[in-house]
Amino acid sequence: MTNRPALVVHARGTADVQDAVRAARDHDLPLSVRGGGHDWLGRGVRDGALVIDLAGMRRVEVDARAGVATVAGGATATDLVGAASPHGLSAVTGTVGGVGVAGLTLGGGYGLLNGRFGLALDNLLAADVVLADGRAVTADATHEAELFWAIRGGGGNFGVVTSMRHRLYRVDPILAGMIFYPLPQAATVLDRLNEILSTAPDELTMAVAMLTDPGGAPGVALIPAWSGDPASGGAHIDRLQRLGSPAFAKVGPTTCVDMLRANDEQGETIGHHVASRTRSLPHFTPGTVSALVEAAATFTSPLSRVLCGQFHGAAARVPVESTAFGLRREHIMATIIGWWPPGDAEPHQTWADTVSEALAGDALPGGYPNGLGPADTEQIAHAYGPNAARLRAAKTHYDPSNTFTATPLP
Ligand SMILES: Cc1cc2nc3c(=O)[nH]c(=O)nc-3n(C[C@H](O)[C@H](O)[C@H](O)COP(=O)(O)OP(=O)(O)OC[C@H]3O[C@@H](n4cnc5c(N)ncnc54)[C@H](O)[C@@H]3O)c2cc1C
Repeated sequence: MTNRPALVVHARGTADVQDAVRAARDHDLPLSVRGGGHDWLGRGVRDGALVIDLAGMRRVEVDARAGVATVAGGATATDLVGAASPHGLSAVTGTVGGVGVAGLTLGGGYGLLNGRFGLALDNLLAADVVLADGRAVTADATHEAELFWAIRGGGGNFGVVTSMRHRLYRVDPILAGMIFYPLPQAATVLDRLNEILSTAPDELTMAVAMLTDPGGAPGVALIPAWSGDPASGGAHIDRLQRLGSPAFAKVGPTTCVDMLRANDEQGETIGHHVASRTRSLPHFTPGTVSALVEAAATFTSPLSRVLCGQFHGAAARVPVESTAFGLRREHIMATIIGWWPPGDAEPHQTWADTVSEALAGDALPGGYPNGLGPADTEQIAHAYGPNAARLRAAKTHYDPSNTFTATPLP
């Protein structure tokens, strides 16, 4: 997919964003918002649209005493965590540093601290939002409370976030890294992992990735992060290294900044083409395990992968109706990523569709809204769980003409 916008506004502040939103309305132009530019679906740059590019709005200010960061609408995870780090603090983000904080947070924000501190959106305290009519409002627990509820899970469907306040925590050092098992061991490892995932303390959150190692061999990578007392983390990591015979294991004390940096090396998207699908899985069922092993055995590109993010602990204890995010039970969020240098798309798209279909049988209804596109109508119908009707009502109130079309609502 190659999208060509009609024009791009390089916004420097709220007034620029307001002018751009009003200009799009006055000239009847479709609109899209580009934050960190790391969207698997390319939603930030819409074909024929006026694109509001927030890359010039990346400032992060840290109030260390309050444990709060004020984050501009175009800031990335690395901008946020990098600004907090000199104060001995960190923030809840995704696993990759280049991903925009706003894009990630508005849709959810799975990451390696979610067992301990919830999703990124559970740590959003307030947001300044430019609405479809060009007004700038602040949304928090006491101002525009319904908008504040809706943007925590409803994605970029309600306006342009020019600034956010995020809660910060003292977590460094963490224990993190990667343990890689070759493909012939993957089924056993994934099956054995179920017990560890279901009993993991809040301090241990994991990503699991079917991918190709630097030597070209497919397999399963366990990517744990222990954010509790370093002295007691070692035993948990040891268990993960004893699920089989790892080809390599590199887990040790690190910081959140370095963890993001390490994952950036794995996840640089610029210049590549992507076909992405998402499924939410209850756990690694036998059907899921064979679908994942088959996915890795049939990779059509060494860049392709299936990323599985664990959702548990603090994230799963938030009542589902308290934000628009629709799935609060423990689960595994799988992102299927066909990823290739420019060239024939067909084999990679077919691979992604095949893997998605193979996972569908044991998947929960719906899926992660940040991974769903307009064609995923069946999944979108269930993606917001019991919050769908309230979310639709908020959309009608705040954006009746559907100016912001990030992720289709049911
Ligand atoms: C390499 C990679 C790794 C990822 N890792 C994770 C992960 O660990 N956890 C996770 O949960 N997700 C992850 N994602 C998915 C990611 O959360 C979403 O794709 C997200 O939309 C990316 O935001 P962005 O600002 O970088 O993208 P953009 O393309 O800039 O924006 C995508 C959409 O987000 C909305 N948006 C962005 N900024 C604003 C704003 N300031 N105001 C209003 N709307 C805005 C808009 O609707 C926009 O169209 C990853 C994606 C990639 C490519």
